[in-house]
Amino acid sequence: MGEFVTRFAPSPTGPLHLGHAYSAMLAHDRARAAGGRFLLRMEDTDLQRSKPEWEAAIIADLDWLGLTFDGPVHRQSPKIPDYNRRLEGLADAGLLYPCSCSRGDIRAAVSAPQEGVVHPHYPGTCRGRPMSDRQPGDALRLDLGRALARLGPDLPVFAETGPGQAGDHRIDPDQAITRIGDIVLSRKGEDIVAYFLASAFDDADQGITHVIRGEDLFDFTPVQVILLHLFGLPVPVYHHHRLIRDEAGKRLAKRDDARAIAKFRDEGASPQDIRARVGLLPV
Ligand code: GLU
Repeated sequence: MGEFVTRFAPSPTGPLHLGHAYSAMLAHDRARAAGGRFLLRMEDTDLQRSKPEWEAAIIADLDWLGLTFDGPVHRQSPKIPDYNRRLEGLADAGLLYPCSCSRGDIRAAVSAPQEGVVHPHYPGTCRGRPMSDRQPGDALRLDLGRALARLGPDLPVFAETGPGQAGDHRIDPDQAITRIGDIVLSRKGEDIVAYFLASAFDDADQGITHVIRGEDLFDFTPVQVILLHLFGLPVPVYHHHRLIRDEAGKRLAKRDDARAIAKFRDEGASPQDIRARVGLLPV
């Protein structure tokens, strides 16, 4: 078996809940079983919402769960200039455009997003605006059609090993355009680099061979693969796992404090109880 390097990449904007814990335990167990490495990456590019207290609380919960990490904690915030340099590379290649549309503008132009689709599909109102026209409040979007054209006829393939969609997936331009569209790579005003960009580049920079994460992110994988290909970077194998849902079948969200690991700990649960609850074998 080749080298196996995976990571857990929480955003320190809230407590670690059952769904995150499942993701972390699964990635940890696989790395250990493969004799590989398990890295911890704090996705803290949202400087407003990320808090050192949340980071400390997440690390304490991971520790309590018995998960061990290899190497120091990697933080994204000090790398913001690097991400911006990559954005400039995309801009120089003519693949970005500034966008001034509000959420309301976009909502008015498209139907409501489905569960798991983080950003409503953008109708392309600002596409074609030159970068020289960028105003301080503008977001930057990827011109996905152009990015796909840039890759040429031989579109990339990525491997998925998760239960839902296992197999090799060739990027399908029509599907990418209808399901993802011109995503935002840098958010309005505050220079917040979008998670897909920072995360994809960090996977490459950290030598991640296997990305293990929730299936809600599956639809965004093609765009990350496209970004990696545009920069000639290696593409990891992806494994999108099932989501841990609450009793009503709804997926857990950051604000579901009722399912925060800290709450289970306070109530006297053991790490093995947490494992049993999400259907993982004891270690
Ligand atoms: N930071 C993302 C989250 O907390 C995870 C990104 C990933 O695993 O690729 O949802």
